[in-house]
Amino acid sequence: MSTSTDSPTAAAQHPTPYAMAIAGEQVEARSGRRFTTTDPFSGTNWASLPDGDESDVDAAVSAARAALSGPWSTLSGASRAALMRRLADLIARDAEHLALLETRDTGKLLREMSGQLTALPQWFHYFAGLADKLEGSAVPGDKPNFFAYTRREPVGVVGAITPWNSPLLLLTWKLAPALAAGCTFVVKPSEHAPISTIAFAALVEEAGFPPGVFNVVTGDGPATGQALVAHPDVDKIAFTGSTPTGMSVAKAAAGHLARVTLELGGKSAQLVFPDADLDAAANGVIAGVFAASGQTCMAGSRLLVHRSVHDELVAKVVARAETIALGDPTDPATEMGPIANAPQYTKVTDMLTTALGDGAIAATGGGPDPELGGFFVRPTVLTGLTPATEIACEEVFGPVLAVLPFETEEEAIALANDTRYGLAGSVWTKDIHRGHRVAHALKAGTVWINAYRTVGPDVPFGGQKQSGLGRENGIDAVHAYTETKSVWVEL
Ligand code: NAD
Repeated sequence: MSTSTDSPTAAAQHPTPYAMAIAGEQVEARSGRRFTTTDPFSGTNWASLPDGDESDVDAAVSAARAALSGPWSTLSGASRAALMRRLADLIARDAEHLALLETRDTGKLLREMSGQLTALPQWFHYFAGLADKLEGSAVPGDKPNFFAYTRREPVGVVGAITPWNSPLLLLTWKLAPALAAGCTFVVKPSEHAPISTIAFAALVEEAGFPPGVFNVVTGDGPATGQALVAHPDVDKIAFTGSTPTGMSVAKAAAGHLARVTLELGGKSAQLVFPDADLDAAANGVIAGVFAASGQTCMAGSRLLVHRSVHDELVAKVVARAETIALGDPTDPATEMGPIANAPQYTKVTDMLTTALGDGAIAATGGGPDPELGGFFVRPTVLTGLTPATEIACEEVFGPVLAVLPFETEEEAIALANDTRYGLAGSVWTKDIHRGHRVAHALKAGTVWINAYRTVGPDVPFGGQKQSGLGRENGIDAVHAYTETKSVWVEL
């Protein structure tokens, strides 16, 4: 397995070959087929990978099943934790290298990916701390001649599907609790950004996990991904991606009643009240929507602002948006990179064209960057919308902020909740009562007050409504990788 980082020009001529990781071995697809991934900044096909099919998925699931009853099953929680801590140290050692791989696959800023990758060990340490605390309970029961107790057992083989926007962060949110619980794991990373996951497999091996505990199959969603989620020997599916794909994953899982955790799309609202610190709110709105070129599930892509401060706040947001430096994602001076791949670029620009044709007003931006070309889209602030305009209620997954004014707190809450999504939101106000009151009224899995985008291993994250099912992070996340067994003993 290579982890070479050739120059873009060299990579164009010779995409670096990578292999899948199954049962501790580097393997090719049984069909011999390969596909390439593109660096969205340079436009080069920089890496090539095996195009796995059903038979490769089957081999990976069999390896995970065998590992589940092998030496891994005999390890105590403390021993699993020790392996996880070793893995955390190796991630810390290689964080910059892994970040560079993710930047080349996704076009996201190198400094942002470095920030994510250097934070990953925290997740492994947090869940390692829970591996030896998976307690059952002694149940008093109502039968004098019986005693009952419960055990938490690993759910079994986990099939994970990850998206391209934060490959290793979103893998970690699944893998760390799954390892803590004693599960084994097969991941299919996005076909647009699989390389860091393959490099990560080498670290799992170096840390000393038994072969087959962690396996990677590569390929596209409808074939390889579908084969994994429909595999009858997968006990739990952990998926992060778009809402339509999540729905089809849930249907496939229902075919064999696999347990499911779904982290899906969002159209999160930032509510700004007239008493807010408007400079802080403008900064929060900018970071909330334009980070990663808007390609984050939690993007605060709707700005709901009280009419009395609408013009002032929009002017501040526009002024800041116009200073955002677009360019090479590896350049420390760059503040926004390109859209990550061709299909996503087409989706974003098509949605903008439709919105502008339907009467939306671009207060700034509005389409591709004419100087940079490629997959670059200008940070865009749209006004003149109605709540029903498609771009005001559907996920764009691009650098587009939809602005809607409101008059009252009730109207703001109703507008914020008028969406099929329920992932996140924020409230900007100096009134502590209103801050909590509105946070409680929002139908969203996470609400920030006078902040945006903070996450941590110990705080649950996930969606209400069509933004998902279940929660990642926090103590309950590890329980989602266990089954409770009740044991009755006759006295
Ligand atoms: P996507 O749904 O297109 O793909 C996600 C993954 O699913 C990829 O690995 C893909 O290959 C796979 N896939 C596609 N079709 C499949 C099928 N039929 N069966 C099984 N797997 C299949 O999403 P994307 O474009 O990679 O990622 C962007 C989306 O992810 C956005 O909607 C974003 O909001 C969401 N997301 C959510 C969170 C969260 O925590 N809620 C985090 C990041 C991204």
